[in-house]
Amino acid sequence: MSKMVSFGIDLGTTNSLIAKFDKGQVEVFKNPNGFKETLPSVVFFRNDRILIGDQARTYVEKDPKNVASRFKRKMGTTETIKIQSVGSKTPIELSAFILKELKNFVHSGEAVEAVVITIPTSFDTVQSNATKEAGVAAGFKQVVLLQEPIAASLAYANREKNVDLRNSQWMVYDLGGGTFDVALVKIVEGELTVVDHEGDNYLGGCDFDEQIIEKVLVPEILRRGRFTDLLGQMKSEKGKYNKLWYRLLHAAEGAKIELSTKTSAEIDLEMVSLVDEDGVAIDSLLNITRSEFEDVITAAIDSTADMMKKILTRNSLRPEDLKFVLMVGGGTYIPYVRKRIEELMGIPVNTSIDPSNAIAIGAAYFAGTKEFKAGGDTVKVPSNSRQLKIRQVYNRNSQESEETFSAKVEGDISSLFYRIYSEDGAFDSGLKALSNRIMEDLPLREGAFNLFQFRILDVQNNPIDVGLDSIQIAQGRYSVAGQMLPEDLCLVTDDIANKDTRLNKIFTKNCVLPAKTKRTVEVAKTIVKGSDEELRIMVVEGPAEKHSSTNKPIGSLLITGKQISRDLIKGTEIDLTFDISESRDLTISAYLNGTGQEFSQVFNGTARHVDSRQLASEVLQLEASVQSEVDEAAANGNHEAAEKLERLLGKVRGLISESGTLSADDVTDDRFKLEDKKRRVAEEVFELTSSKRLDGARATYAESRQDVASLVQENGNDREKHQLRELLAREQTFIHSTNPERVEAATSELARIKWQILMRMPDFLVGMFEHLVKHRASMNDQMQAKQLFENGKRHISSESWDDLNQVNGRLWDLLPEDEREAEDMRLYTGIV
Ligand code: ADP
Ligand code: MG
Repeated sequence: MSKMVSFGIDLGTTNSLIAKFDKGQVEVFKNPNGFKETLPSVVFFRNDRILIGDQARTYVEKDPKNVASRFKRKMGTTETIKIQSVGSKTPIELSAFILKELKNFVHSGEAVEAVVITIPTSFDTVQSNATKEAGVAAGFKQVVLLQEPIAASLAYANREKNVDLRNSQWMVYDLGGGTFDVALVKIVEGELTVVDHEGDNYLGGCDFDEQIIEKVLVPEILRRGRFTDLLGQMKSEKGKYNKLWYRLLHAAEGAKIELSTKTSAEIDLEMVSLVDEDGVAIDSLLNITRSEFEDVITAAIDSTADMMKKILTRNSLRPEDLKFVLMVGGGTYIPYVRKRIEELMGIPVNTSIDPSNAIAIGAAYFAGTKEFKAGGDTVKVPSNSRQLKIRQVYNRNSQESEETFSAKVEGDISSLFYRIYSEDGAFDSGLKALSNRIMEDLPLREGAFNLFQFRILDVQNNPIDVGLDSIQIAQGRYSVAGQMLPEDLCLVTDDIANKDTRLNKIFTKNCVLPAKTKRTVEVAKTIVKGSDEELRIMVVEGPAEKHSSTNKPIGSLLITGKQISRDLIKGTEIDLTFDISESRDLTISAYLNGTGQEFSQVFNGTARHVDSRQLASEVLQLEASVQSEVDEAAANGNHEAAEKLERLLGKVRGLISESGTLSADDVTDDRFKLEDKKRRVAEEVFELTSSKRLDGARATYAESRQDVASLVQENGNDREKHQLRELLAREQTFIHSTNPERVEAATSELARIKWQILMRMPDFLVGMFEHLVKHRASMNDQMQAKQLFENGKRHISSESWDDLNQVNGRLWDLLPEDEREAEDMRLYTGIV
């Protein structure tokens, strides 16, 4: 009774669509209201009325304070969208309205219980989970997420059956209303896989509309009349010209679309009757040419090409290794986009699929291969009320000329038969006795959708209704290997030596989901039962080579002293299990070996919250830290680094002035864009300064290597000589590594060898003993300390060095912990 998910939804920033896979075909449903496939992702509220889509859109200008649009960009943030008449709505609630409205498109009236919903590849875990939540809020029993570039590729690969895509790779270029995504896609053994991707959550057609206003329309209006801070007054919710902003957005979009087919477009502001601050009416007719528009978007388009080049470099690919660049998303209707990308990349641009509905079509193909899991499998056989459970197994997509079908049958099968035959009559298994396991090789017609009936029959050859679906196999079509993770997921632990934190990769970017992994960490500091001290099992998303401050927090599992049943002693192991589902729900379980307790939490994510003021102070902080790095580099005569840092400082100052123009009630996405930019600059700073740490680590290593080498030479035994030789033999592998931690690890190995030798050397042991004597006043057990000091003195005079070593060790244990760790950092996560 395996039923398929069947429905695919493109939940877009600007437009949403719904499609269904049925017997090999995909139908994109139309809005019964106006017969368009696309539903604008816009919701309008007024008292008891809610309008969705095109109708809501007409209120964007008339009554903007009661309209919500472009909320996909706020998915995964704590941000709510203010609606004057009904208060605030979350992006999840608003998305649920869109999803529910799409159900109305399904003219057959059948219930939509399970769906595939697409998301941009650049969506992080928090954003993905928010999308799933919206699906659940809309009443779907099962929601499967699919990344948009995979959907687009499925639409193409399933359509162009005569194009041989085997062993080829291409890029999907998706320029939508609010997000840009580019993905490197490959077919491996009939399965589509995304190999790599780049993207920007804040680049799309809406930005072009805003740029038209800021770079073309506003300057023109300022030439025609006197205004102070026109742009600021337009963008701020309480601003005098806030309404004009919405009017212009609509007009700019219209002009942009017109410019895809014409060389100039007109915008008439007549209905706004704009007057300047002196009360002078402004001439309402504005004009924009195609080349003016192209100038406005060049930088953005070039930045998309840069992302594509990054993918090529990272994967050691040349442009000719790619078959084409598949264009999707409304933004790719713009002729300049197609031309510029082809020019800059030297890869042919493929515009053969409909940029507006391709994603929904691909989502439906995927839905056709996904099993609906919410239903039960057991069905009563009416004739003799027997319980039969049947589980079918076969590939729904095949590149072969034959597929094996098998089924497992549980229950009373006595005197029952089965028969499998193709709809076109070309294959018939004949009547066979039903057994607990049946198997048939089904011949497939090439490039077609193959349909077979699977019947269970009783002794009289009457079919028994066990609710079996027909067997559906698409030959020559492609399926998806699996969803992949868009960024590394890392565990944050303390890096005591550097008074910092470090990232430990738990899942690698592009790994196929679902995935599961285990890690063992140690408690870095004793946690007393009942205390407020805590352990933070913290997971961040972003490159593992970077720093926790440059990556996005996903969630943390906190374990406090109040929750534990016994003290957790320093050094106790904690077994962590990380489980990530196909839809990227992350579950963290922690087993505390010390107390035998288990803690577990599912992360639907801590949503991102960006506050204008906090952002401004973070940017200022960044400036201060870059400035001090500049000074340090200059003082050390490191001109190259100083110059690079200076350039970053320039970028940071740009961010400062941008953050200065943000009002606390800014209605645009500017602060999210700014937050993204800030993180990127922080990353660059990290890259530059991590090379400083690397240089430092190499210098320290070189120094102690010399030290230890002579120590081993003079005093080392055979084992220590061997250990050193072994380390030096590996030197090339870590000394050229770009990861300072590997170099630091080698330095610690040297230190261990050194320590072993020192422990046998009388001078060192006596020196250590004397050092401990100085700290005798603070030792925990004065009686025992006194005894040990006396013993120590005796061992020195009798030259019993081994005994002295033991005394030193026990005295060390008597030192209070804070004294021992005086040098240590304040522990941040509490685990190492
Ligand atoms: P999303 O995936 O974000 O919902 P779409 O792929 O539907 O977005 O693209 C919507 C964007 O495409 C809008 O910004 C719209 O203005 C733009 N767009 C649609 N048609 C055209 C066109 N013919 N020329 C230029 N831009 C267009
Ligand atoms: Mg889209």
